[in-house]
Amino acid sequence: MTLVCCPRCKKLFDKGVALVCPKCQPDENTDYEKIRAVLDRSPHLNAETAAAEAEVSIACVMRMLDEGLIANVNLTENVKCGRCGAPAISLAKKLCKACLDKLNIEVAMAQSQIKLKDKKQIQIGDYLKARKGSENKRR
Ligand SMILES: [Zn+2]
Ligand SMILES: [Zn+2]
Repeated sequence: MTLVCCPRCKKLFDKGVALVCPKCQPDENTDYEKIRAVLDRSPHLNAETAAAEAEVSIACVMRMLDEGLIANVNLTENVKCGRCGAPAISLAKKLCKACLDKLNIEVAMAQSQIKLKDKKQIQIGDYLKARKGSENKRR
């Protein structure tokens, strides 16, 4: 059993194949129909406009795109990597595969650098303390 937060009502529910909790499922279906209808009528809309036209939240459109419920070429092509402009594979992060890998490496590097910095500061602190100690002795 995996409890997740329902994206619609923010209540916890047991995530099976459903994206939203059982209570919100009818609303989700209605929104899905609305988005489908809008995309059938005007397939060239991007995610933002489609959401506005269908009067559903952009999060709802993105959720359905992520799950492959709606596979509109224009919608997916409009989500470009925020770093290099290549088509994004992660709609939520707006990153392409290459940049997603790079980002993971950068995060790992940054984390190890933080650790190094901490060590250096401790060493300098110890050095100052030691120097102060010897100065006091001299007086
Ligand atoms: Zn819900
Ligand atoms: Zn990229």
